[in-house]
Amino acid sequence: MVRAKAKGWDAVGTPIPGNVTACLDEIGLDYKVNGDEIHMPCPMHEARTGKKDKHPSFSINSDAGYFNCFSCGYRGPFVVLVKDVLDIPYSDAAVWVRGRGGIERVKKFLAKKQPSQVDTTKHINEASLALYVTPPLAACAERMFFPQDAEAAGVLWDPKRDMWIVPVRCPDTGMLWGWQEKNSRYFRNRPNSMTKSKTLFGLHTYEDDLAILVESPLDVARLRAAGYKAGLAAFGAGVSDAQMSLIRDHFDTVVIALDNDKAGVEACARLRKEWVGRGLTLRFLDYSHTSAKDPGDMTDSEITYAVDNAYSSVLARF
Ligand SMILES: [Zn+2]
Repeated sequence: MVRAKAKGWDAVGTPIPGNVTACLDEIGLDYKVNGDEIHMPCPMHEARTGKKDKHPSFSINSDAGYFNCFSCGYRGPFVVLVKDVLDIPYSDAAVWVRGRGGIERVKKFLAKKQPSQVDTTKHINEASLALYVTPPLAACAERMFFPQDAEAAGVLWDPKRDMWIVPVRCPDTGMLWGWQEKNSRYFRNRPNSMTKSKTLFGLHTYEDDLAILVESPLDVARLRAAGYKAGLAAFGAGVSDAQMSLIRDHFDTVVIALDNDKAGVEACARLRKEWVGRGLTLRFLDYSHTSAKDPGDMTDSEITYAVDNAYSSVLARF
């Protein structure tokens, strides 16, 4: 089978600078170099979110120049950064980058490694995510959310393999520990050793006071589409003590919205027994009005009803 030609970011037409740090100096950005990664506060954060980036959420791969802000989702090839920081058209930015060793560099880069052959298991850093994109509408629609919900939740997409990419981050620093790759036929943790049970998906992107704990990270995006912006995912029904403590550190109340199956119900019963009276108000999602087995299968109005009528820990049937 003939491999499809590289498109978009991977095409030869997207120039890569000869020297990434020299270009950053030239466009007036301050940065710190750490191995093959460059860190700095996100230069477009304020324009995108209305708030200045107080942490160095932004990183650039010093080899290829792909960049990524884990906080606001700003990401792309180096030429886009030049376009935005200098506020010039894309074509001018491409000329600018090409004039700085871009052509020689891109030939060297493509000769050395095709993006599809990059071994993502070796280097887990923020720039590893730069080849992933906002999930396409068709994939999102199957899950009843929009690409902007995925983007706001921090869910990405591998366009080469048609897979969801779910970043897994340190709860305290936001540093990337790895990610999950999945579609209907495939599932993998990269690296296998990452301790998902010590963190929660959604902890770095929530924008609301009412936490809703679900099993699947994709349901965090689904909740956003239904108007709930503080979904957290435990990566399964086995909610750990560390994960509950994290919720208590960030929220006063959590609606436990684990799946309505045997594992989910047993986990609810255990959480009720172990966590009532420990400084976090627990409520349990109401499934009485629906045949859905998790919030991801509910309509918007079913989700609203299920959250509004969540049981207190006293009334819960578990
Ligand atoms: Zn940002």
